[in-house]
Amino acid sequence: MAGAVPLVDYLVLEGEPHLVANECTECGARYFDRRNACAGCESTGFRKVDLPTEGEVRSFTIVTFAAPGVPVPFVAAVVDCGGTSVRANLINVDPDPEHVSLGMKVRLATYPMGTDQEGTEAVGFGFEPVS
Ligand SMILES: [Zn+2]
Repeated sequence: MAGAVPLVDYLVLEGEPHLVANECTECGARYFDRRNACAGCESTGFRKVDLPTEGEVRSFTIVTFAAPGVPVPFVAAVVDCGGTSVRANLINVDPDPEHVSLGMKVRLATYPMGTDQEGTEAVGFGFEPVS
Protein backbone atom coordinates (compact mmCIF):
# COMPACT_ATOMS: atom_id res chain seq x y z
CA MET A 1 0.00 0.00 0.00
CA ALA A 2 1.40 3.39 -0.98
CA GLY A 3 -0.21 5.07 1.97
CA ALA A 4 -3.49 6.06 3.46
CA VAL A 5 -5.00 9.47 4.03
CA PRO A 6 -8.00 10.20 6.23
CA LEU A 7 -11.11 11.59 4.54
CA VAL A 8 -11.42 14.26 7.21
CA ASP A 9 -8.57 15.98 9.00
CA TYR A 10 -9.89 15.19 12.47
CA LEU A 11 -9.45 11.48 11.85
CA VAL A 12 -5.95 10.39 12.88
CA LEU A 13 -4.77 7.05 11.51
CA GLU A 14 -1.36 6.74 13.13
CA GLY A 15 -1.24 4.12 15.84
CA GLU A 16 -4.76 3.29 16.92
CA PRO A 17 -7.16 5.31 14.69
CA HIS A 18 -8.95 8.00 16.68
CA LEU A 19 -10.67 11.37 16.36
CA VAL A 20 -9.12 14.64 17.45
CA ALA A 21 -11.17 17.67 18.44
CA ASN A 22 -10.17 21.30 18.88
CA GLU A 23 -10.99 22.23 22.45
CA CYS A 24 -11.44 25.84 23.55
CA THR A 25 -8.88 26.53 26.27
CA GLU A 26 -11.28 28.96 27.98
CA CYS A 27 -14.62 27.15 28.14
CA GLY A 28 -13.83 23.63 26.93
CA ALA A 29 -16.21 23.66 23.96
CA ARG A 30 -15.11 21.17 21.34
CA TYR A 31 -15.16 21.52 17.56
CA PHE A 32 -14.13 19.36 14.65
CA ASP A 33 -13.86 22.13 12.11
CA ARG A 34 -11.12 24.75 12.17
CA ARG A 35 -12.20 27.95 13.86
CA ASN A 36 -10.69 31.33 14.46
CA ALA A 37 -12.71 31.85 17.61
CA CYS A 38 -14.92 29.84 19.94
CA ALA A 39 -18.66 30.14 19.25
CA GLY A 40 -19.34 30.04 22.97
CA CYS A 41 -16.88 32.53 24.46
CA GLU A 42 -15.01 34.03 21.48
CA SER A 43 -11.69 32.84 22.85
CA THR A 44 -9.10 32.18 20.16
CA GLY A 45 -7.14 29.59 22.11
CA PHE A 46 -7.58 25.95 21.15
CA ARG A 47 -5.80 22.74 21.95
CA LYS A 48 -6.04 19.32 20.32
CA VAL A 49 -7.68 16.61 22.38
CA ASP A 50 -7.90 12.91 21.55
CA LEU A 51 -11.40 11.52 21.85
CA PRO A 52 -12.15 8.09 23.25
CA THR A 53 -12.75 5.60 20.47
CA GLU A 54 -15.77 4.12 22.23
CA GLY A 55 -19.06 5.84 22.80
CA GLU A 56 -22.82 5.55 22.99
CA VAL A 57 -25.46 6.22 20.38
CA ARG A 58 -27.32 9.39 21.42
CA SER A 59 -29.61 9.66 18.41
CA PHE A 60 -29.91 8.02 15.05
CA THR A 61 -31.83 8.14 11.81
CA ILE A 62 -32.25 5.26 9.41
CA VAL A 63 -31.78 6.90 6.03
CA THR A 64 -33.71 5.24 3.24
CA PHE A 65 -33.46 7.92 0.55
CA ALA A 66 -30.20 9.51 -0.54
CA ALA A 67 -28.43 10.92 -3.56
CA PRO A 68 -27.92 8.57 -6.51
CA GLY A 69 -24.93 6.33 -5.92
CA VAL A 70 -25.28 6.40 -2.15
CA PRO A 71 -26.25 2.95 -0.93
CA VAL A 72 -29.32 2.96 1.32
CA PRO A 73 -30.48 2.26 3.86
CA PHE A 74 -27.78 3.41 6.24
CA VAL A 75 -27.78 4.71 9.78
CA ALA A 76 -26.79 8.33 10.45
CA ALA A 77 -26.09 8.77 14.14
CA VAL A 78 -24.81 11.10 16.81
CA VAL A 79 -22.38 9.27 19.08
CA ASP A 80 -21.34 10.55 22.49
CA CYS A 81 -17.60 9.94 22.87
CA GLY A 82 -16.66 10.88 26.41
CA GLY A 83 -19.03 13.86 26.37
CA THR A 84 -18.29 15.02 22.83
CA SER A 85 -20.97 14.55 20.19
CA VAL A 86 -19.72 13.04 16.95
CA ARG A 87 -21.83 12.82 13.81
CA ALA A 88 -21.10 9.66 11.88
CA ASN A 89 -22.71 6.71 10.21
CA LEU A 90 -23.06 3.38 11.96
CA ILE A 91 -21.37 0.63 10.01
CA ASN A 92 -21.12 -3.14 10.25
CA VAL A 93 -24.67 -3.28 11.59
CA ASP A 94 -28.01 -4.08 10.00
CA PRO A 95 -29.70 -0.71 9.37
CA ASP A 96 -32.98 -1.43 11.13
CA PRO A 97 -34.51 -0.61 14.53
CA GLU A 98 -33.99 -4.15 15.78
CA HIS A 99 -30.23 -3.81 15.57
CA VAL A 100 -29.76 -0.12 16.37
CA SER A 101 -30.88 1.42 19.64
CA LEU A 102 -30.31 4.52 21.74
CA GLY A 103 -27.54 4.01 24.26
CA MET A 104 -25.97 1.25 22.19
CA LYS A 105 -22.22 0.95 22.79
CA VAL A 106 -20.19 1.54 19.68
CA ARG A 107 -16.57 2.04 18.75
CA LEU A 108 -14.73 3.88 16.02
CA ALA A 109 -14.07 1.86 12.89
CA THR A 110 -12.32 2.89 9.69
CA TYR A 111 -12.90 1.62 6.20
CA PRO A 112 -11.27 2.15 2.79
CA MET A 113 -13.15 4.54 0.48
CA GLY A 114 -11.15 3.98 -2.64
CA THR A 115 -7.66 4.38 -4.03
CA ASP A 116 -6.33 7.09 -6.33
CA GLN A 117 -3.97 6.59 -9.25
CA GLU A 118 -0.88 6.82 -7.05
CA GLY A 119 -2.25 4.07 -4.85
CA THR A 120 -3.07 6.33 -1.95
CA GLU A 121 -6.06 5.03 -0.09
CA ALA A 122 -8.72 7.35 1.30
CA VAL A 123 -9.98 6.24 4.68
CA GLY A 124 -13.36 7.08 6.13
CA PHE A 125 -14.77 6.32 9.54
CA GLY A 126 -17.94 5.24 11.20
CA PHE A 127 -18.96 3.53 14.40
CA GLU A 128 -19.67 -0.16 14.76
CA PRO A 129 -21.37 -2.04 17.60
CA VAL A 130 -19.12 -3.28 20.38
CA SER A 131 -19.67 -7.00 20.35
ZN1 LIG B 1 -14.88 28.86 24.42
